[in-house]
Amino acid sequence: MRLLPAQPCLLCGAPSRTGVCCAACDAELPRLTGEHCPVCALPTPSGEVCGECLKHAPAFDHTVAAFSYGFPLDKLIQSLKFRDHLTLVNYLADAVARRANSTPDCLVALPLHPLRLRERGFNQSMLLGHRISHQLGIPLLPHACERVRNTPPQSSLPWKERDKNMRQAFACRPDADLRGKHVAIVDDVMTTGASIGELAQALKRAGAREVSAWVVARTLPHDR
Ligand SMILES: [Zn+2]
Ligand SMILES: [Zn+2]
Repeated sequence: MRLLPAQPCLLCGAPSRTGVCCAACDAELPRLTGEHCPVCALPTPSGEVCGECLKHAPAFDHTVAAFSYGFPLDKLIQSLKFRDHLTLVNYLADAVARRANSTPDCLVALPLHPLRLRERGFNQSMLLGHRISHQLGIPLLPHACERVRNTPPQSSLPWKERDKNMRQAFACRPDADLRGKHVAIVDDVMTTGASIGELAQALKRAGAREVSAWVVARTLPHDR
């Protein structure tokens, strides 16, 4: 490591060893370490299931989130979306892998619609999934699920419409053997949980026993 030239920090430009974050910026990242709802990862006073999950249990069973989606982590996520930056992918994926608290049978990445994939050239969730799979030795099933409806980006819609927008957006391929499996969905950001919830439903319809959500960042209510 010492022989490599220092790479500029993506956030402040100071020299960094990883080419992602210098030590000072790394220390500023909003890690999600406090007590939180085990289902959706929103903070709760003593780590109990939150009221929203009790009222309307989502189709996924647990969420692991490495960070909250706040400054300056949002800048890193944005760089991830707009360019295929392998050192950044590895850095964020490793943060998720370190927080993993169960060993699912397999991983799936939140799929992009083929048209969107062609525009962007890569699916950042798939890149994260490959790295996490490699680090934890859990197989990634890159073709098990697909996005069958090309929906407008969730970020372009008001909160209330996001559930409806995602309805029936995903399907699992009939040849993906998910019966009885614990599947973890890998994604970059969980905001309302609508996309991950829809994919979790599709996985459960295909026979998955348990679904976890593994995300880099969780949007907290005060960041909305
Ligand atoms: Zn920095
Ligand atoms: Zn919850």
